[in-house]
Amino acid sequence: MLCDFSHQARFIQDSYPGVEADCKTTYGVYNWLKEGRPLASQDGFTPPRCSGDDVKDTPDIDSKQTVYQLALYRLQQLGIVRDYTIQYFGRKDKWRFEVEFNTHWSPQSLLDHVMRFLERSRRPDSDDVAEPMQVLTALAAQCGSPPWAAEHCRTEEALLKKAIGTLLRRVYARVRTMRLQMLRNELDYVRAAEGTCRRVTLLNLFNDKLVAPDYRCEFCDICVPDLNFDQAQATDAVGNVDLEELLLRLNDLLATAKPEPARLHDFIRQVEDRGVLLGTLARATRHLEGDPASLSALYLAGALSWRIPARQNQALGYFRAGFQQGHQQGVTQDILLGLFYRTGAEIDPEEAVRWLNGIGSRLAPNDFLTWVQSQELLLGCDSAAYRVLSAIAKVRALGCLKGPLRELNALAISLSNKRSKRPRRMLSLKKRLDQ
Ligand SMILES: [Zn+2]
Repeated sequence: MLCDFSHQARFIQDSYPGVEADCKTTYGVYNWLKEGRPLASQDGFTPPRCSGDDVKDTPDIDSKQTVYQLALYRLQQLGIVRDYTIQYFGRKDKWRFEVEFNTHWSPQSLLDHVMRFLERSRRPDSDDVAEPMQVLTALAAQCGSPPWAAEHCRTEEALLKKAIGTLLRRVYARVRTMRLQMLRNELDYVRAAEGTCRRVTLLNLFNDKLVAPDYRCEFCDICVPDLNFDQAQATDAVGNVDLEELLLRLNDLLATAKPEPARLHDFIRQVEDRGVLLGTLARATRHLEGDPASLSALYLAGALSWRIPARQNQALGYFRAGFQQGHQQGVTQDILLGLFYRTGAEIDPEEAVRWLNGIGSRLAPNDFLTWVQSQELLLGCDSAAYRVLSAIAKVRALGCLKGPLRELNALAISLSNKRSKRPRRMLSLKKRLDQ
C-alpha cells in the first residue's frame, strides 16, 4: 500500500508540472491541432515540461503521451476538443492520438465552459467566479467570430491563453490539493491509529454521529487480527447525546468561513475530554477534500493530528497550509499568528519563523522593520522568533542604507579632492602674481 501510495503521489505530482508550463503546453497543442498536424510519438513536437521551477529535459515517449493527454483533457474542458482516443501501432512506443478538434469554437462557448468549471470548483461562501469571468468577457467582446480573420488572431490567442490560465490556476489551487488530500485520507485510514477499530474512522465519516474511540466492531482486522470472527456481523455503535452535540458544533465550525480562534480552542478541549480525536480528525480532513482552503478545517486537522501520536508528523503540514491560505485570504494577524504560527512554532520553530519571514520580506525594508516591531506583543520580545525576525529586519533596513552611504562617501571624496586642489590652485595663482 505504501508503495502504491508513493506511486499515486508521484502520478499526481507529474500531472501538475506548474501553471506556466501546463499553459504553454496546452496552447502549443492547440496550435499544433489547429494547423491540422497529428499528435503522435514521432511528430517532432517537444512540449515544455517542468516541475516546480526546474525545467526538466525533453520528456521521453511515455511522458510525452501523458503531457499530450493532459493538454487534450484541458482543451476538452474548454470545449475545444470534443473527444480523443489513442491508437497504437503494434508497439507500445508507437502511437497517435485521434482527436475530434472543434476548429470553430466560439468565444461564447469558451466562456460557458470556463464559467461552468469555476462554478463547480468554487469555494463555499466566497465569490471567486465573477472577477475572472469579467476579464474573460471583456476579452471575448473584442474577439471576432470564427473562422478567425487574420486581424483577430491576436485577440483569439489572448482570449484562449487567458481562459487556459484561469482554468489552470483554479485546478492548481483546488483540484491538486484536493486530490492529494484524498490520497492522504486514504493512507490514514489504512494506517489507522494503533489498536483503534477500523469502523471508528468509517462510522465517523459516513454516519451522522461521532463514535467513541473505545468502540469495537469485533468484525475487522484490528479487532480480530487472525480474522477468526466469532460473530456474523459488526457490533452496532451506540449513539451518545454528548457526542451528537459535539458533532453539531463541528459542523457549525466547518461551515463558518472565518475561523474564530476562541471557539476552535474550546472545541478542541471538548474533543480531547471526550476522547473522540480520531473521529473528529477524520471529519475535518474529509471536509478538506471538498474545501481545501477552509481555515477552520486546516486548523482542526493540524491541532487534532498533533494530539494523536500516529499522526503527529502531519500536523505541521496542515498548519503550514493554514498559514499560507490565511495570508492569501487576508485574515487578521491574530488568526494567522494565534491559530497557525503559534502552534506551528511549537512543533518546528525554525520553519515557523520562515513563514513569518516569507510574508514580511514582501514588504519594503523599513515597513518590514515596523511590522516586526508591531508583532512584539504577539510574539513576545524574548521569543527566538521575535529576535531572529528583528535581526533580519534590521539587517535589511541597514542594507537599504548602502546606496545613500555610497553616495555620501562619493560626496565626501569629491569634497576632500576639491579641498586638496584648492591650495594648489592658490599656489599657481601666487606663482603667476610673482611673475
Ligand atoms: Zn473493528
